[in-house]
Amino acid sequence: MNKEVKTIGILCSGGDSPGMNAAIRAATRTALFHGHRMIGIKRGYSGLLNHEFQELTLSSVGNILQRGGTFLQTSRCPEFLEKSARRQAADNLIKQSISSLIVIGGDGSFNGAHLLSTETKTPVIGIPGTIDNDISGTQYTIGYDTAVRNAIEAVDRIRDTASSHARTFLIEVMGRNSSAIAQKVGLCTGAENIILPHEEINCKSLVDDIKRGVARGKTSSIIIVAEGPVSGRSYQIQKELKQSYDLAAHVCILGHIQRGGSPTGFDRLMACHMGNLAVNAIIEGKDSLVTTYNQGRVSLTELEKCLQKTNKVNEFYTELANTLSI
Ligand code: ADP
Repeated sequence: MNKEVKTIGILCSGGDSPGMNAAIRAATRTALFHGHRMIGIKRGYSGLLNHEFQELTLSSVGNILQRGGTFLQTSRCPEFLEKSARRQAADNLIKQSISSLIVIGGDGSFNGAHLLSTETKTPVIGIPGTIDNDISGTQYTIGYDTAVRNAIEAVDRIRDTASSHARTFLIEVMGRNSSAIAQKVGLCTGAENIILPHEEINCKSLVDDIKRGVARGKTSSIIIVAEGPVSGRSYQIQKELKQSYDLAAHVCILGHIQRGGSPTGFDRLMACHMGNLAVNAIIEGKDSLVTTYNQGRVSLTELEKCLQKTNKVNEFYTELANTLSI
């Protein structure tokens, strides 16, 4: 008996994250290994609407595992907020004989995938790909580990200058409303203070901490600032420190250097695992699920449970940072 050959589509949507390429490779190789087809869709939902399809072969996903970004490219596609566009997207998938779609992205991309699935009955599987590590239902998203590593390396370099000149630095890290990058980077670099996205900024307490450190012989102070909704809040803190306390602090906004570069071993491993699991789920006829990582295990979670952003603060990390930065 001939088994049915499935044609699977794959796209990346929203912000890029290191490890997306490794996930595309893993999904493609798994599909081809089992005798199925994989179609890459360029530039996310925009490419889906504009017929940007490309057959993926064993070699077309060769030599991409170690590269940051996504060779399929990604985009933000406002049209996809319209029901008519999602109907058009489903029709385009049918024309390509694509029977299931893999979406690699964040919660916004998953919301689009969920609507596509419920409105048009297109089977979808999500793979969490964002450096912010802020998707419900999973303790980890692909790219987070690399972003943390990149930021740690940058802060360590800045610490050299901060120590040599006895300076205070405000270093702003990415993550929008998510505290995940700021907390981990702050802990791993021995930051004197970590300012979380929704935290009221108390400059008096910052200055007191800095003075206490200087009194016990510290030659530099690093304050990690989570960017919050709009990047650049470090400049406001800098201004207040100067005006109210005559404390000169330097600002460094790390920005997109956190998002690029070769993925870490952990991001690569998770991307291999999640890409493989996504395709295995499709082969088993599963639908509306997300590959997730919880308590050290990769598994599948209902898509509906992964549609929200979580901006939870890790209270243990907060306490740990307070204890260690005394
Ligand atoms: P991320 O997936 O990284 O959270 P965005 O929030 O920018 O990134 O979402 C990426 C894309 O997903 C959007 O440009 C849009 O095409 C689609 N999308 C986001 N939210 C929705 C929604 N509520 N309904 C339909 N599509 C959505």
